[in-house]
Amino acid sequence: MPELPEVETTRRGIAPALEGRRIARVIVRERRLRWPLPRDFARRLAGRHILRVRRRAKYLLVETDGGTLLAHLGMSGSLRILDRRVAPVAHDHVDIVLDSGRCLRFNDPRRFGSLHWVTGDPAAHPLLARLGPEPLAPGFDGDYLWQRARRHRVAVKQFIMNAQVVVGVGNIYASEALFRAGIRPSTQARRVSRVRMRALATAITAVLGDAIRVGGTTLRDYVNPDGMPGYFRQKLYVYERAGEPCRRCRTPIRQVVQGQRSTYYCPSCQR
Ligand SMILES: [Zn+2]
Repeated sequence: MPELPEVETTRRGIAPALEGRRIARVIVRERRLRWPLPRDFARRLAGRHILRVRRRAKYLLVETDGGTLLAHLGMSGSLRILDRRVAPVAHDHVDIVLDSGRCLRFNDPRRFGSLHWVTGDPAAHPLLARLGPEPLAPGFDGDYLWQRARRHRVAVKQFIMNAQVVVGVGNIYASEALFRAGIRPSTQARRVSRVRMRALATAITAVLGDAIRVGGTTLRDYVNPDGMPGYFRQKLYVYERAGEPCRRCRTPIRQVVQGQRSTYYCPSCQR
């Protein structure tokens, strides 16, 4: 599943080809995405000028002079910039054709991804309105996490994976950030001290920042905006390393299940 770093990598990849261009037309080959595309979807986008491409959590926001295209990649979606004459292949559901002769092509084999056309303030859209802060933006820090944790009895790992607390901390990044901060994932969020929450916020920002720098972690079905598979993988300390020696202390990494997700930690480094 594309995580926040892959979505940010996609944004950086597609934005230069989109910003400043006009949408010449839209080709819809498959309406049945996670939410069906409305009949007038293509007509409403045609002719719009694209101002900029932003990201909020794992949504891409293509802002135009008449509304915003809200795109989510779901489990297996990708957005690529191609010459519009390149013949579509299986699962190429939508083309946003630009006045430059290129197109933004949405491919999604499993169709858990979505496209919405939003007029008005996109931040007020029901999909975005209740999201917590961005982990890479000012305002996200350990004091904020500590304050929010007062009311949470859940384990700290589930706390930081809650999108209403902070967006974009998926399973890989939660495990890795807790390792870097030296915090046992099962610790109740409200029992983590302010000082350790500061270390955790710093670790979350660092693991996501590192992942963006290398273009996102490896995903077997993830394709970069330039069409290359996402083979890059940052050095992982605990994720999917059960039984292997900790890179710091050589203690075998443990795997447990928390909230139906696998959690990995070092029983010696994380207390
Ligand atoms: Zn260790």
